[in-house]
Amino acid sequence: MYTYGIKFKPWVRENTIADAHEILDYLHETVRENGLARHIHLGHRVLRADFSRAQARWNVTVERDGEQFDVSCGVLVSAAGYFDYDQGYTPHFEGREDFRGQIVHPQRWPDDLDYAGKKVVVIGSGATAVTLLPAMADKAGHVTMLQRSPSYVIPIPRQDPIAKLLHRLLPDTAVHAIARRVNSTRINLTFTLSQRYPTLVRRLVRRINARALPGGYPVDTHFNPRYNPWDQRMCMVPDSDLFKAISRGAASVVTDRIVRFTEHGIQLESGDELDADIIVTATGLNMVPFGKIDLRVDGQNIDLHDHLVYKSMMISDIPNFAFIIGYTNTSWTLKVDLVADHLCRLLAHMDRHGYQTVTPVADNHIGSRRPYIEMRSGYLRRAMHLFPQQGPNGP
Ligand SMILES: Cc1cc2nc3c(=O)[nH]c(=O)nc-3n(C[C@H](O)[C@H](O)[C@H](O)COP(=O)(O)OP(=O)(O)OC[C@H]3O[C@@H](n4cnc5c(N)ncnc54)[C@H](O)[C@@H]3O)c2cc1C
Repeated sequence: MYTYGIKFKPWVRENTIADAHEILDYLHETVRENGLARHIHLGHRVLRADFSRAQARWNVTVERDGEQFDVSCGVLVSAAGYFDYDQGYTPHFEGREDFRGQIVHPQRWPDDLDYAGKKVVVIGSGATAVTLLPAMADKAGHVTMLQRSPSYVIPIPRQDPIAKLLHRLLPDTAVHAIARRVNSTRINLTFTLSQRYPTLVRRLVRRINARALPGGYPVDTHFNPRYNPWDQRMCMVPDSDLFKAISRGAASVVTDRIVRFTEHGIQLESGDELDADIIVTATGLNMVPFGKIDLRVDGQNIDLHDHLVYKSMMISDIPNFAFIIGYTNTSWTLKVDLVADHLCRLLAHMDRHGYQTVTPVADNHIGSRRPYIEMRSGYLRRAMHLFPQQGPNGP
């Protein structure tokens, strides 16, 4: 929370890896203390935005309660994340309609899902699956994580020992600033080490995993990924909760491939069948650029993939438009801060000089192009053709 939290609002709660209700309380406090509620319009969906070069304004079409209306603005900033909020990603599963139990996608989690004493199979091995497994294990009869191939899973303490000590000695604002710096350095160091010495980091993670699991556990089958550390996102588990749930027998991991769903569960390639009352398809999300807003300039449609990203914040030939997408290999929020600060300086500069528009213009000589995000996770590879691209070097 020191790196995910807001720079000017110290995190003072004990848990550094916080639960949803703590994060919500923190957000509500921030909104209240800074009088932000009047700037937030909930339940509004932006459908379309068209920039008029003549007027130097965006005309933005918004939907609320099924009604559409237009608003206008000088500068449009997308902070719409990069996931499709309408639907998660579910691959086709043969025999899905044969299954007699309940199938749930985490993106549409039913509030009244009753899994007490039930056999739950969670399909997937990403952040969602490794979070769900220990969270459901206490109440469910048994939870099985069914994965095609392993991911990197690393335990981290729920409470930050350094910050805890500092809280006794220093004011909250100072602790927040120091803990933020220490944690971002730690994450950056882990990423750099992983990229430079993948074999060493792989061995280290394996050793940590083996220690957290019961003796004789097949670590290499279930927790030894095919890819190198940080080629895809790594999953962090607070206080080893996932490993603890496995150790006490409340949860287990199966690494296999699905042949089909059956009446009572899932038939696997190894010949085994997994019994299930509930199947959770933690198979991922769909990525979309800028909340699926239909962006236009002077009425002309824009194919984003033809455009280049400028400083990870603006797009070539699209005037007065910025977007805020955080880091994918460290805390999302740290980059949100950098981009927001830079954008504010840019807007202040325009105000000082009386400029109406700002448009990044790509150098004609730019030859090779790279995907906007270069990690190899499935959800990124599935969607990069929808996003603008990067040039070969800095602007
Ligand atoms: C399971 C999971 C685990 C993750 N783990 C991590 C992690 O460990 N570390 C990390 O850094 N990141 C992680 N992420 C990435 C996560 O997306 C970001 O950390 C962060 O939540 C993004 O915040 P945001 O406000 O930019 O976007 P979001 O949280 O995606 O919020 C976007 C908002 O925009 C709204 N919106 C979208 N389209 C429109 C539209 N057209 N009109 C109006 N409103 C719109 C949405 O309703 C939503 O409220 C994880 C994501 C998931 C799903």
